Amino acid sequence: MVVTRFAPSPTGYLHIGGLRTALFSYLWAKKNSGKFLLRIEDTDKARNSQEAAEAIVNAFSWLGLTHDGEITYQSQRDEVYAVYIKQLLDTGKAYYCYMSKEELDALREEQTAAKQRAMYDGRYRDFNGTPPEGVAPVVRIKAPQSGTIVVQDGVKGDVVFKAEDILDDFIIARADGSPTYNFVVAVDDALMGVTDVIRGDDHLSNTPKQMVVYEALGFTIPKFYHVPMIHNAEGKKLSKRDGATDVMAYKEMGYTPEALLNFLVRLGWSYGDQEIFSMAEMIELFNPKDINKSASIYNTQKLDWLSAHYIKNMPNEELAHLLGDYGLVLTSHDKKEILLDALKERAKTLKEMAELVTEMLQTPSAYEEKDVKKAFKEDSKAILENFASKVRNSSELHLPSDYHALMDATVQEMQIGFGKIGQPLRVALLGKLSGPGLDSVMAIIGKEETLKRIENALRANC
Ligand code: GLU
Repeated sequence: MVVTRFAPSPTGYLHIGGLRTALFSYLWAKKNSGKFLLRIEDTDKARNSQEAAEAIVNAFSWLGLTHDGEITYQSQRDEVYAVYIKQLLDTGKAYYCYMSKEELDALREEQTAAKQRAMYDGRYRDFNGTPPEGVAPVVRIKAPQSGTIVVQDGVKGDVVFKAEDILDDFIIARADGSPTYNFVVAVDDALMGVTDVIRGDDHLSNTPKQMVVYEALGFTIPKFYHVPMIHNAEGKKLSKRDGATDVMAYKEMGYTPEALLNFLVRLGWSYGDQEIFSMAEMIELFNPKDINKSASIYNTQKLDWLSAHYIKNMPNEELAHLLGDYGLVLTSHDKKEILLDALKERAKTLKEMAELVTEMLQTPSAYEEKDVKKAFKEDSKAILENFASKVRNSSELHLPSDYHALMDATVQEMQIGFGKIGQPLRVALLGKLSGPGLDSVMAIIGKEETLKRIENALRANC
């Protein structure tokens, strides 16, 4: 059984890089009918982990990613960690170190001065004497002092670490008894039965240390997949300004979960040149061995493109419902279908779509000056009057095609090109030259509002 996990440190929100590794872990578990677990790494007790965990769970629920089983909170597991620290002490695989902070600082200074790597020198590793008084000891694990540790990484291949370069007998419990990061990660992954660890490659240098813990405790080492970072267009690490922000901010910006997940799955993973993936396809096709070896580039245009794609293809009922989150109540609008069909091809985000609809439903209070100049010619007034009278005298105006027929009739009657009516009418109805099809606009706002907007424009002497 494949068991994966997402193990965020509660920084208060879920960010885009974290979400991507969570998605990869989720997909890999689902593909293998396995389990996707959630662990909150809240050993830093100063932070409010409950709130952070809720923020993450909320984001997951918006995105439709569900974790299996209970959430594991590291802050609640001190007793578990204590058992394993004791086991390592009892079996001689870890030991108490009584070196004071001053001694350690002095050693570090000496090593730095001698241009050596600053590291613990192992002085208590085989200590049998009487411990110094008044020093609360830390617990250090016996790490290999020579040879190599090979991380068999599913993305990067074998990554070889020389023990002497990266390991000293690192601390697994501080003087106050609290366990340290690499120790608890290894213990938790093992006890949670995690078989596949998919995480950012900023953690790669922690992995040999975690492997030392696994080995000392006789746990099976999981498969590791270290995923390269996401970079911005300049090739630098993604910053808040580029979009490395709270995942829920993407909801506020009007992106759908489908678009965001599709965007993320392609950041660092590919399947041929396919760009659009439904959740079912992602689950079917994702394999962490296909994760790219180099960093991926965050590209907002791509996200917008995907977002537009999902909005365009969304059933109107669902779209109307989702627009409610952006302040647009459309569920009972009698022209809902025409309205959504007319605008769903034009919006990059749900928020933009809500704004476009709201704008269209409002009688223009001003006209774009340059558009007026471009659209209104000498004969425009007569053309609009001709069209308005046709509208006034028609009793059966419901569909866009009903309005279109009247525009055609004016064009025929006055022997003019379509632009002659289209342009001034567009400015009259919308205040500017851009927007959706005019026949749809008129069908949506209805006969009275159409006449009112034309009259307003004529009165304003456009
Ligand atoms: N808590 C770590 C982080 O938020 C992740 C640890 C891991 O995946 O092993 O970056």
